[in-house]
Amino acid sequence: GAPPGGLYSPGDPLVLLQVDTLESSVLNSSSAWLVEFYASWCGHCVHFAPIWRALAADIQEWSPAVNVAVVDCADIANQKMCGKFGITGFPTLKVNSVCFVPPTDPGDSIQNLRQSIITNLEMHKETWPPACPPLEPASVEEIRGFFQTNNVTYLALIFETNESFLGREVTLDMLQYENVAVRRVLSSEEELVKKYGVTAFPSSFLLINNGTFSRIPVQMEARSFYTHFLRRLPGVTRGPYMPTRAPDTPIKTTPIPRKPADRSKVYMADLESALHYALRVEVARFSVLTGERVRALKDFVAVLAKYFPGRPFVQNFLRSVDRWLRNVRGSRIPYSALKLVLTNRKEGQAPAVLSNNVTWVGCQGSEPHFRGYPCSLWTLFHLLTVQATRHHSGQKAEDPLEVLGAMRGYVQSFFGCRECAQHFEGMAAESMDKVRSVDEAALWLWSRHNRVNARLAGTATEDPQFPKLQWPPPELCHPCHSVVKRRQVWDEAAVLQFLKAYFSPINIFLNYTE
Ligand code: FAD
Repeated sequence: GAPPGGLYSPGDPLVLLQVDTLESSVLNSSSAWLVEFYASWCGHCVHFAPIWRALAADIQEWSPAVNVAVVDCADIANQKMCGKFGITGFPTLKVNSVCFVPPTDPGDSIQNLRQSIITNLEMHKETWPPACPPLEPASVEEIRGFFQTNNVTYLALIFETNESFLGREVTLDMLQYENVAVRRVLSSEEELVKKYGVTAFPSSFLLINNGTFSRIPVQMEARSFYTHFLRRLPGVTRGPYMPTRAPDTPIKTTPIPRKPADRSKVYMADLESALHYALRVEVARFSVLTGERVRALKDFVAVLAKYFPGRPFVQNFLRSVDRWLRNVRGSRIPYSALKLVLTNRKEGQAPAVLSNNVTWVGCQGSEPHFRGYPCSLWTLFHLLTVQATRHHSGQKAEDPLEVLGAMRGYVQSFFGCRECAQHFEGMAAESMDKVRSVDEAALWLWSRHNRVNARLAGTATEDPQFPKLQWPPPELCHPCHSVVKRRQVWDEAAVLQFLKAYFSPINIFLNYTE
């Protein structure tokens, strides 16, 4: 079924952590915790979710040594906690609070992920979780005295080269089974290699506590063949450990009533929600802003103060934040200081407020993880590029890149979907500096957004009720389309005219703003 609030549901083989369970579960735990911090609106998190879910299923037997969990940082309730864990972009994967980089080759990512988990655990021996079995290679001495010190019937020895993960994976796979132990032996352990007459790596031997041993007959030297064989040995049983879904707490789901929206309009609720989310959620992920981020924030707020056609108290709010930022001396801004300005309710005698509400109207998706924030961010920046053309009604602006540059800086410094930011930066680096006028700036953003739409059409981030189209479609702007040699081409003059009308203050509806 549809996930309740985020990208995962209670039926998935992983733990859905919430603010009240995250810290108590993960910190000081006797288990290793693999946590994906994600934002449900982040396209790359949507693409990654099936991989993470499959990984969780793949290593389900590794609990209680290793638990797989997720935290939705887009859930406002979890925001502080995500900050505490130092999350600044999505998705971020951590093993016991230590970051690790997911593999980039989607072809074999489950295997890569599984192996990088082991590598990460081993790199941080000081935080080795007590519930995690030792994974280091066995020595001659350990094997010699094994049955005296361990009360099991069987010991499986997996002979392998140093870089092989098979032994460690099978050890974890067999964790919940009693009466059997698994150890890896390195091919460099000559005495044991000789003793058992090992000639191929990997290969495996089964030692029984009555002193006999035999080669484990598997069709392939692969993880599942070993576990299958070992689990069916007489006397081997699954232990009492029951993988609990605790500490899941029931996920609060508030069904979102659909708000009727007209696709030919822009909604102020989306724009104000974008401002709130950008300034109070995305920027807030950095406890101290320095260097490029200070610059990016100043530029962003400056164009908002100058061009955002907001309600008077929102404009007052933006101007007061802009003024404050301009007066900041030095290159460091603690978010705590900025926060005071962002919650300020008065500018002189005039109210200066930006609501804390997040309400999607034109950007409402058919499910909570569709659309929302990224949709509103595009809308906001299109609006700003168009507003800049109204200010500079002649073609020549002092700086035609004023808005685009601010967008580029914001996306680069703060946009939580890090892969989106990289793609956008790629497009910006390629051609943004060729923009010569404010009109060209509005058209540049329109055409790059269409490129993104083309790239994402048909992927998992596409809301089926809002397919990714080359925009505007003919029903919104017929004159924008013309046909040359039987091919659709854009009439850019008509597109520009359309953008100016679509993103004009009189096309912004106040419905659903408080
Ligand atoms: P959106 O594409 O968000 O568009 C919002 C609204 O803008 C539309 O409803 C429409 O009214 C209007 N619009 C659409 N096209 C145009 C246009 N060409 N010109 C003017 N207005 C238009 N997601 C990924 O999965 N991978 C990425 O790499 C990625 N990169 C992104 C980069 C940036 C800078 C941003 C802001 C978002 C990015 N996203 C990415 C998110 C993705 O582009 C969409 O925002 C998201 O999937 C929501 O899509 P949507 O259907 O709501 O429409």
